[in-house]
Amino acid sequence: MDCIFCKIIDGSIPSKKVYEDDMMLAFHDIEPAAPVHVVMVPKAHIESADALNEENVKYVAHIFSKAGEIAKSLGLKNGYRIVNNCGPDGGQTVFHIHFHLMGGKQLGTMV
Ligand code: 5GP
Ligand code: ZN
Repeated sequence: MDCIFCKIIDGSIPSKKVYEDDMMLAFHDIEPAAPVHVVMVPKAHIESADALNEENVKYVAHIFSKAGEIAKSLGLKNGYRIVNNCGPDGGQTVFHIHFHLMGGKQLGTMV
């Protein structure tokens, strides 16, 4: 399958990993949009938030259950933002669901 994030998960594309377990991987974004910018991905090829269902949503729950721990390990003591882009109009460019974890400065208001 021609998926960048599946290749990062299987190690055929290198990444700067910050957290890994049997269900997820978190690594530094190659083009950071904030002083700290990590991408959290499930170890299951789910295309986007639009492809979530009762069975696979456990991966999203797991990612959120670890996000605070990951943020802490990155030194984000004063908060952070988690973003999911869904589909072309949502700005999604890699079609393997992922959550951006960003912080390290006051990020301002987006919505
Ligand atoms: P999206 O725009 O789909 O929400 O986010 C995709 C993110 O993946 C972007 O922030 C982009 O910089 C990042 N990205 C794309 N390709 C790579 C890569 O090969 N390595 C890493 N570390 N990040 C990538
Ligand atoms: Zn994938």
